[in-house]
Amino acid sequence: MRFTGDKKTVWIGTNWKMNKGPAEAVAAARALAAFRPPEGVRTFVNPPFTSLKDVSAVLQDSPMIVGAQNMFWEDRGAWTGEISAPMIAECGASMVVIGHSERRQHFGETDWTVNLKVRAALKHGLRPLVCIGDTLDEFEFGVSQETLARQAKIALHGLSQEDFARVLIAYEPVWAIGAAGRPAEAPFVSQIHTKLRAVMQDITGPDSTVRIPLLYGGSVSQANIRDYVALPDVDGVLIGRAGWEPADFMKLIDSVSTLVSARVDA
Ligand code: PEP
Repeated sequence: MRFTGDKKTVWIGTNWKMNKGPAEAVAAARALAAFRPPEGVRTFVNPPFTSLKDVSAVLQDSPMIVGAQNMFWEDRGAWTGEISAPMIAECGASMVVIGHSERRQHFGETDWTVNLKVRAALKHGLRPLVCIGDTLDEFEFGVSQETLARQAKIALHGLSQEDFARVLIAYEPVWAIGAAGRPAEAPFVSQIHTKLRAVMQDITGPDSTVRIPLLYGGSVSQANIRDYVALPDVDGVLIGRAGWEPADFMKLIDSVSTLVSARVDA
């Protein structure tokens, strides 16, 4: 059996969202191309569709994984404006973000469509990075855990052990994302991730040895990245704004090197 995650690997990526036209995206990719992350860190970047092919070409010999920010579940057909998994793969990308809260909030993404997309991504060899997250209301009513378990269980419904081994999950509280968000406190993230770890075991089955990586996302910055990466059930971070400038992104990655080498040596 192949394993996506072991306790030692740390995933760090940045989602450019609707930023950077093709020229700016290629310039950013060039700035990242020679970068080598510390041992034990796997890095990724999610450019807009319009630069997916060019960014993938620039980064093809680098360890930086390239992923799309969304996809549709059918391969082709009368779906105006949509992009399919085979199209993403043909662009040279190997990962895709599915179920980001901005898509759930503004574009009608549901748990059901997330599941359709996850299955389609896996069918075409893409690694799905599934975002789950509680709204501020859910957080204040104390039902974050229930929401996250529901989202994760539906997203990963019907997957095989082989499939589980290719999936990543990002816990991104909706209330923590973006300029108006406030970063979740590390002890809260720790609590959520420890419970999510049990949910993952429930999903993959009691005998499964697959350890699905659990990333945290939401206002990650130079000021807090080490607090999250130091947590035993956090396998990495998904970064928005703080990672859009290549120099800042590389600095963020380098700043966890001592934490990661402690994991590698453990
Ligand atoms: C995100 O939207 O996935 C995200 C993590 O954004 P930010 O870091 O800007 O809060």
